[in-house]
Amino acid sequence: MIAAPHPGVFVDPEEPVLFEQSPALFLDRDGVINVDHGYVSTPSDTEWVDGIFDLCRGAQQLGYRLLVVTNQAGIARGYYSEAQFLDYTSWVHQAFRQHGIRLTATIYCPHHPEAGLGPLRVECPCRKPAPGMLIEAQRRFASDLAASALVGDKGSDIAAGRAAGLRHLYKVVSAAEPSLAPVLPVWRLSDVLGDLKSHCP
Ligand SMILES: [Mg+2]
Ligand SMILES: [Zn+2]
Repeated sequence: MIAAPHPGVFVDPEEPVLFEQSPALFLDRDGVINVDHGYVSTPSDTEWVDGIFDLCRGAQQLGYRLLVVTNQAGIARGYYSEAQFLDYTSWVHQAFRQHGIRLTATIYCPHHPEAGLGPLRVECPCRKPAPGMLIEAQRRFASDLAASALVGDKGSDIAAGRAAGLRHLYKVVSAAEPSLAPVLPVWRLSDVLGDLKSHCP
């Protein structure tokens, strides 16, 4: 029997592993952390989305653990290797640390059901809109999903968050994909922080 496909996890080497349940702020990567230029995989291709560092610092102060959840069909398609992706991810984590932000981990799906090469061509439970990466966060990092939030730029991000029972879902509004109720559409990442703060006890 072949093992079920599983998401990859880059755990920040400088982050202590905590077993105490805590809410997470889940961040999609392309379109939320970096501008989506298509299969971004190098520092020189990286353009940070306006407001991402302020959002992360603020959410961290509110007690959210920060986790990136990203479909990486670029690995499935062979555009870059998993090792290259992990090098780049480590660079992203360091860039955040220089802004005073601790990213606990980046959870990634290296699969694609049609375009994947070899064993990466597979229907998996981790590729968004499936909730597998969020479930993995619950298992590995004791994320309290019912108290967690997610920011994405696509309907598939929001669908994954909804399937995992997350409390707050934010969709960065793009002309290509207008938002769906009852997701809170946001124009700027600073709106996310304002809303998270308004829910704080
Ligand atoms: Mg995206
Ligand atoms: Zn997957």
